[in-house]
Amino acid sequence: MSSIRILSDRVANQIAAGEVIERPVAVVKELVENSIDAGATRIEVEIRNGGKSYIRIEDNGKGMSPDEALLSLERHATSKIREAADLNVVSSFGFRGEALPSIASVSRFTLRSRSEGWEHGTEIKINGGKLIEKKDCGMPVGTVIEVAQLFNSVPARRKFLKTDPTESAHITYNTRLFAVAHPRVAFRVLDSGRTIFQSPACEDLRDRIAEIWGRSLADDLISVDVSDPKTGYRLTGLTAKPGVGRSTRRELVTLVNRRPVDSRTLGFAVLDAYHGRIQKGRYPPAFLFLEIEPQEVDVNVHPAKREVRFRNDGAIRRFVLGAITDTLTVATVAERPKAELRAPAAKNEIDPAQPLKPAVSLGPISTKPRAAKTSTAPRIIESQKLAEPAKVNTPAWRLISILKKQYGLFDTPRGLVMLHIRYADQRVRFERILRSYKESTPPSQSLLIPQAIELEPLASEALLTHLDLINEQGFQVEEFGRHFYRIESLPAWLEPEQAEDFIRDMVDLLRQRGGSRKQSELIWESVAKLAVGGSYRRKDTMSEAAVQQLAETLITCETPHTSPFGKPTFNEITWSEWERRFGKG
Ligand code: ADP
Ligand code: MG
Repeated sequence: MSSIRILSDRVANQIAAGEVIERPVAVVKELVENSIDAGATRIEVEIRNGGKSYIRIEDNGKGMSPDEALLSLERHATSKIREAADLNVVSSFGFRGEALPSIASVSRFTLRSRSEGWEHGTEIKINGGKLIEKKDCGMPVGTVIEVAQLFNSVPARRKFLKTDPTESAHITYNTRLFAVAHPRVAFRVLDSGRTIFQSPACEDLRDRIAEIWGRSLADDLISVDVSDPKTGYRLTGLTAKPGVGRSTRRELVTLVNRRPVDSRTLGFAVLDAYHGRIQKGRYPPAFLFLEIEPQEVDVNVHPAKREVRFRNDGAIRRFVLGAITDTLTVATVAERPKAELRAPAAKNEIDPAQPLKPAVSLGPISTKPRAAKTSTAPRIIESQKLAEPAKVNTPAWRLISILKKQYGLFDTPRGLVMLHIRYADQRVRFERILRSYKESTPPSQSLLIPQAIELEPLASEALLTHLDLINEQGFQVEEFGRHFYRIESLPAWLEPEQAEDFIRDMVDLLRQRGGSRKQSELIWESVAKLAVGGSYRRKDTMSEAAVQQLAETLITCETPHTSPFGKPTFNEITWSEWERRFGKG
């Protein structure tokens, strides 16, 4: 007699069940994911005894026809993928087609479902993997699944379950995460007949968090929205204000493509960004949504766990760290008392050439004919691909008018361009500062009268640590007493009137950011962002000549399409789009 045999489906399902569902919360997770995949806008979760004796998930999703309902309980039956290649781009939660048969194989399982176009629903009862009954039933469109006596037939597994309150807590926490991930779905969670939480569909993430975690937490968070056009990464959501920390990381929630995940990469990047901003050993509450191409992330690491793996771990880490650091830096500067933010002196108010001062022009950034012949040529060609400025000498973009003091309307060979003056100015200044970083002797201006500045001890220490780096960048700051410094020179891009404020802010940033000499380029990028954002962004009105010059400089930038903070710098409506809108006559 051969000792090798094919396992019956029932045994195979029970084995699979061990992998897919380790405990009640996994059942809830699988079923809620199915409801979301089915397009539900209302989901109700009910449990008893931590889910061990009873779980019910009810949704108003698209439901199943009688045939689909039966098929859904077959192993590897899924409506979500067909080929192995689909795995790379799958956007639904489930796709293995294992959850329902696995759960049904280790419980008393009832499925009721009705899809649009059917007058009745289907009810299927299964006990320990055996079909007991299938009949029609009356119900609205949607699906109700009841799972009773989970693992009763698998005592080995039952033994590993924790107490009812512990299992319950896992389920509530998990459902909260789903609710955060899907603010437009109404949720209700009942535990032994008591409503644990309930939240209607919310448009806004902050409202959702207030509903679920309380208003005071929601008020302690600031919005994040940063995208990187190069990689296509985007980080949105809410993150702790500087100084707001918690003793556990339960409220540090990260989601990748709307799926709550555990990721060391993301966790560390967030903690790093808060280094020096919250007490040691505490965790910032945050609800952060990372959006990346589905191919960039492997969610398939473990069926029951929430771990993910990124194809490009380092890039993700840098992006998230940078995104939060910048958000916090802007917030820190914005929250400083007004008196500290001295406005630049009046004489600087309107100076068209100012942001692009030829005297300090750094060759490559100028679009004057001279520059076109030099090393900028490849860059111009590159941006032509995107913006297609026709020729460099006659300006490709002709300013028609400045609108509402903040936009420049341009006539271009391709169509009409609306330029956002402030965002464009930020991009141009940002790249200028970064470029000066790469020069051996960045353009510098000496102050007629050196300025003295006193720092508090910790700030002083941070400045001393980074003094070399700073002084290589066109500053000349000397220590001339304990915690006293003298500013002798400034980089060309910094207004002397802003010197003291800027140095204080820069020292704050260096202190919060930390970082070693090796990361000086990254550090300098944050300094450059500081220099063009928050209170250092342009507040004066630009003349037409300056706006024209700004556009010409912008199109020679390396990343002309967005501000350093990810905002679009201009929007173009092409002539063919106009033709389309008016229709051919
Ligand atoms: P998977 O989600 O991996 O496809 P499941 O075993 O979880 O596998 O579900 C099998 C199939 O049953 C799904 O592909 C879907 O077509 C159907 N299904 C499961 N739950 C629901 C639901 N709540 N509403 C509608 N269809 C569902
Ligand atoms: Mg599923």
